[in-house]
Amino acid sequence: MNLKSFLLADIAKGMSITLRQLFSKKFTVMYPFEATPISPRFRGEHALRRYPNGEERCIGCKLCEAVCPAQAITIEAEPREDGSRRTTRYDIDMVKCIYCGLCEEACPVDAIVEGPNMDFSNEDRSDLLYTKDRLLQNGDRWEPQLAKRLAEDGKYR
Ligand code: SF4
Ligand code: SF4
Repeated sequence: MNLKSFLLADIAKGMSITLRQLFSKKFTVMYPFEATPISPRFRGEHALRRYPNGEERCIGCKLCEAVCPAQAITIEAEPREDGSRRTTRYDIDMVKCIYCGLCEEACPVDAIVEGPNMDFSNEDRSDLLYTKDRLLQNGDRWEPQLAKRLAEDGKYR
């Protein structure tokens, strides 16, 4: 094969790859308008969950606070009049958090979990100090996704 026919064969081969890819399935997504699927083990922005009757799951045991390697969680808790124990303060300093997921793993009632949101940002550092209200709002917003994710991941725990 001389040089000219070698180059022509090479060009034909290149063109055939281009044409094949033109009609094949596309893997590029138009982020942020489209998102790629996320794993049930994905560890994003935190949320505090409730039971279906609206009661908070968290019983203020402080296991998540104790296990957090970044010391990002601050909890204060006291008993209610009905004898149940609930938090009066539940803060996560998201600047300190390293998204290790240990808080979620330590929680005996699946109250603190890491949600599906990965693209959150703030201009003010103080907005990254998440309060209990903020975390409960996240839980209320994502509950169907969180419950599905925990059910899918549960069989591997
Ligand atoms: S994900 Fe890890 S670092 Fe972040 S709050 Fe939970 S235990 Fe702490
Ligand atoms: S979130 Fe879970 S581990 Fe943390 S204090 Fe509440 S019940 Fe305990």
